[in-house]
Amino acid sequence: MKFNTLFTLTTFIGHLAAIPTYHNSDFSHVGISSLPYDKQIISACTEPNTVGLAFDDGPHIYTDQLLDLLHQYGAKATFFVNGVNYGHQIDSYKSVLQREVKDGHQIASHTWDHKWELDKASNETIMWEMTTLDDKLDDLIGLRPTYMRPPNLATSERMLDVLKDYHVITTNLNTDDSGGNLDWSKSCFDDGLEEGGSLILAHDTKDIAIDLATYMLDMLKEKNITGVTVGDCLGDPKENWYRKAGDDFRDSFLLQNKENPYEKYIKTGL
Ligand SMILES: [Zn+2]
Repeated sequence: MKFNTLFTLTTFIGHLAAIPTYHNSDFSHVGISSLPYDKQIISACTEPNTVGLAFDDGPHIYTDQLLDLLHQYGAKATFFVNGVNYGHQIDSYKSVLQREVKDGHQIASHTWDHKWELDKASNETIMWEMTTLDDKLDDLIGLRPTYMRPPNLATSERMLDVLKDYHVITTNLNTDDSGGNLDWSKSCFDDGLEEGGSLILAHDTKDIAIDLATYMLDMLKEKNITGVTVGDCLGDPKENWYRKAGDDFRDSFLLQNKENPYEKYIKTGL
């Protein structure tokens, strides 16, 4: 732990001249985060008086407006994005992704197409889902996330083993906004916050997204709680949120899979 901290500090100082931005993907020191990678699920924040604002399934038509709102409240968020979902293609949202990074938000993975509950997918499919999105994000904004949230929060021991190089995030403050019922989601948020919940699950793909986010931000302000990214609420420095291409996950993936997993996926659906 001490070694890690020292190493983090030393490396951080060494990289001060090159603080990462969305056009700089040199995260050569990734992997020294003190956060758990291996077979653990993170469901709560650790920094006092913070809440991790986290929105899944986008980018979508509401995301830009959500960014305006977050700016207005001085809050930050993590966006667990998909490559394809709700009929959108992430390529059309390059400027939204760039804005998310420039505004100080965090981009994380929610798999390429949200098609699989990963506990039911083969190891190859899990890797394909992750690396396909990583490659696309690398193309679009030069960043490969180290944080992921599994679709429908489905996890298993085997899946965690495959995802050993990612921080696997769930939630302890689920707004249950999938049904699009604003009053219900507000009460879920209130109850969750009251019970000490700190790591939010909401979606920027729902037509209640802006109203619900406004409500959450008002409530947090009232209680003097700061809405931040998941990385920030875990005390993990920004330079640990992304990795460079060629890091362990991708290398081990390519070594283990001589057959092109995409071809296999298309052929067999597995
Ligand atoms: Zn989702």
